[in-house]
This record gives sequence, C-alpha cells and structure tokens, in this order.
Amino acid sequence: MQFIDLQKQYQVLKQGIDRRIEKVLSVGHYIGGEEVKELSEKLASYCGTKYCLTCANGTDALTLALRCFNVSRGDAVFVPDFTFFASAETPALEGATCVFVDVDERTFNIDADKLEEAIKEVLKEGKLNPKAIITVDLFGLPANYKAIRKIAEKYNLPIIEDGAQGFGGSIDGKKACSFGDISTTSFFPAKPVGCYGDGGAVFTDNKDYYDLMCSLAVHGKGAYKYDNVRIGYNSRLDTIQAAILLEKLDAFEKYELTDRNRAAAEYTERLSKKYVAPEVPQGFESSWAQYTLILKDERERVELQKWLSERNIPSMVYYPKPMHEQSAFTGLPDRNDKLKVSSELSKKVLSIPMHPYLTADDIEKICNALLEFKDNE
Ligand SMILES: *Cc1c(COP(=O)(O)O)cnc(C)c1O
Repeated sequence: MQFIDLQKQYQVLKQGIDRRIEKVLSVGHYIGGEEVKELSEKLASYCGTKYCLTCANGTDALTLALRCFNVSRGDAVFVPDFTFFASAETPALEGATCVFVDVDERTFNIDADKLEEAIKEVLKEGKLNPKAIITVDLFGLPANYKAIRKIAEKYNLPIIEDGAQGFGGSIDGKKACSFGDISTTSFFPAKPVGCYGDGGAVFTDNKDYYDLMCSLAVHGKGAYKYDNVRIGYNSRLDTIQAAILLEKLDAFEKYELTDRNRAAAEYTERLSKKYVAPEVPQGFESSWAQYTLILKDERERVELQKWLSERNIPSMVYYPKPMHEQSAFTGLPDRNDKLKVSSELSKKVLSIPMHPYLTADDIEKICNALLEFKDNE
C-alpha cells in the first residue's frame, strides 16, 4: 500500500498524459507555449481569480508574492507556527522577521485571535514594521478567511494565501487560492494536484501585482525582453509539466476531488469513535492534502506507527517540528509560551494514506488496523 499512490493514478490517466507529452515533444517547444497558456487560464477560472501565473515551484510562488509587497529587513511577517518550512523560509529570505502565530487545535490553521494578539504585540514593541500575513491552508482545509480578512483590513495588511496544500478546497463554494491579495500553490507531485517534477502558481485579481510577478519570474524583464528593469528570477513552469497538469486538473475536477472527500468521509465515520478526526467547519470543504489524526501523546504515536508499519500501512508525521523549534530560526524573539498548540500538535499528529485511488478494501484494512490498535492498547 502507498501513502499517496501516484503510480496507480498514472495507470488510470496514462493514455491522456502520454498523448499530451508526445504532443509537446513533437512540437519541440519546451518553455512556455500553448499548454502553459491554457493551464494558467484554466487554473484562474477554476479558482475564480482574474489572473494566474504558473512558476517553477510553490516556494518561488511565495517569493514572487512577497516581492509585490516589498517585504524586506525590518518588516514583520505573520506566519502560522505549524506549517511546511517554505511558508516561513520565504519571508526570512527577503530579510523580514517571521512572527509565528499559534494554530487552532482542531483545524490546524492559524488562530485568528492569536494573529491579532501578535500584530498588537509587534506594534506595541515598535521595533518591526508589520508588513504581511501569510496564511496556510494546511492539509487541504482553507484557513478562517472571514476572521483573518477582518484583521487584515483593520491593520491594513495584505494576505498571502499559501495554498500549496489547499488547492481544491473551498469556503461557501468559493475556491481556495482566491482568498489572498495574492495566493500561491504548489504542484509538487504529492500535493492535491501535482505534476511530475516541480511546479507552482500565483493567483490574484490585481493586474499590477500580476504584471510585476510576470516580470520577476523572467529575470525582471521589461516590455522589451532584453531590457531588464529589475532583478528577478528564472521561475517558469516547463511545458511538459503544464501538459501533465492539464490532464491531472481535468481528472481532479471530474472525480478525484470527490473521491478524496469520499475516502475522508469514510475514515471519519469509522474512526471518530476512537480517534480525534480532522474537523471541517460548516461551509468549508477540504481537498485532503493529508488526512491527519490527533493522538493522545508522542508515545501513542510511536506505538501506532509501529503497529501500522507491521501491517504494511504507511503513515507520516506532518510536522514533527513547528517553525519556532526549527534550528534555522533559533535566535528569534522568544514567544514560545504563545505557541503551545503547535508544539503539542507536532507531538501528536499522524497522517494516514490519502489519495483518490484508495479502494474500499484499502480503507477497510486501514480502519480495522487503527481500531484494533485502540482495542489492544
Ligand atoms: C509544499 C509546500 C510549499 C512549497 O512548495 P514547493 O513546490 O515544494 O516549493 C509551501 N508551503 C506549503 C504549506 C507546502 O506544503
């Protein structure tokens, strides 16, 4: 059994994917081109934003977004403490100081009340200039944008939605990657929609940001390509990856997202009697980048992982260390007493297999093993 079964997905989509790759090879156009254009348009339309620019990966997407707000030294950027490193790495790379904010213990996403507390704290101290909020749609569930948007407006801060895991999720029918002033996603193979290598995208309704990111992603190009008007990057999505993504996005829209939700619903129905299952608030929909249980403690997690692996069931810990415990961030002002939920979660979370090609038998086997473990404890 695979944790995320990309081989099975390829077997199902093989014909379409192979045909699209062959077309790129026969045309011989490997950067940009028809596929990239078609994909950006489809992505924007799927997420309901005016603009979408594809780029090299989800980390670059965050960097492109941060550059639009001139995030730099002396700035504070608010980042959830419980996330993948890139959410915090990118503002730090711009020279800004990350202010980590604790997360909600049931949704794993940034806690809006604690976000406002952190902003007030920075303002009161007067050392850093609050510049932007990075939200993360962790494990596929959009963050609480109603509350976060209010705070962003109150303190006049832009929201960068890190939708690397959130693509496909929604709130009241509005799709993820449309909630930020700029939103980003990743097409790393294991994400809800992944390519066969690295890939990413930025989304916005703002033409100025879009134009700036188009320039930044191609060496800071000006209207005339060989007049470079700013220092940028080489951050493009390859044509072959775009071709693969066109086929995968189609399957995601047609049935994969539904099947992810079906698998998650079955897990929750069977497991919630004995486990703390992930919570999806009213009106929200997750794209289930991960299906994550909260266990009693670290000891139970070690034992359960062993129990599962003896039964050939893979499981993963996302994430074993919150941002404030990362070695790269030692030396930041100590707010550790305010980050207790993230610290606790990092000891207790366990993600179990999640992908749209899980069979009823797979789910049965996984649930039985998890329930038997509790009976044996
Ligand atoms: C995967 C991920 C990223 C980075 O995406 P890459 O394409 O791997 O660069 C950023 N943020 C979060 C929350 C992620 O899960």
